Amino acid sequence: MPTIYADLHLHTVLSACAEVEMIAPLIVRRARELGLNLLAVTDHNAAANCAGVIAAAEGTGLVVIPGMEMTTAEELHLLCLFETVEQALTWQGIVFDHLPDAPNNENLFGGQYVVDGEGDYIRTEGRLLAASTDLSLDASVRRVTELGGLAVPAHIDRASFSLFASLGFVPPGLPVPALEIFRRTDPAALVAAHPEVAPYPLVRDSDAHQLSEMRVSLAFEANAPSFAALRSSLAQRSHRLM
Ligand SMILES: [Zn+2]
Ligand SMILES: [Zn+2]
Repeated sequence: MPTIYADLHLHTVLSACAEVEMIAPLIVRRARELGLNLLAVTDHNAAANCAGVIAAAEGTGLVVIPGMEMTTAEELHLLCLFETVEQALTWQGIVFDHLPDAPNNENLFGGQYVVDGEGDYIRTEGRLLAASTDLSLDASVRRVTELGGLAVPAHIDRASFSLFASLGFVPPGLPVPALEIFRRTDPAALVAAHPEVAPYPLVRDSDAHQLSEMRVSLAFEANAPSFAALRSSLAQRSHRLM
């Protein structure tokens, strides 16, 4: 079976903190140079740029997973990965209902741009995306799962916006398919220090905000790159961290 090379966490120009080069054609070109087969697009509390990256990847062999990095009421980041753009946009609607309706301050935080598959400007997202929703971690995980998605707590051991920073621990029995650890963390050392993570498959992603940060982050064997293949490799813990 072929090896699938993946990265599940990447920001585009819809995230105010991402570089202006993070547009669909350049992301897809860099992903192909790196040999990536599967790439998730995960902007902060927004999914409007997934369709553009999917369009840019069409016919290249790169499969793009529509997703989001949402901020829960506990101020922790949760990767929400979906099989279809429709699911991601449904989730987007729910998240917007639970975000403060405040304007983005472009001068302070940077712009939030929706772009198409060519990287051409469509519109500016005017509402503040770099905010916390009032959805709890439990409620978010439940609702993403009900929509058919995968809810993966992001960079759990990072110093901010993480499970360990916000709660100090992994809630016992948290029904998630994986935990994402910070990209520079040694998984064996983390499991030794925090045995409660041992029951979970661990992933490690680029969390790229610029092209040079993109990388192959995990690998697994599958007939073809897909959301379903990712889900089953996590369930079987048959993936490897790269
Ligand atoms: Zn994050
Ligand atoms: Zn991120």
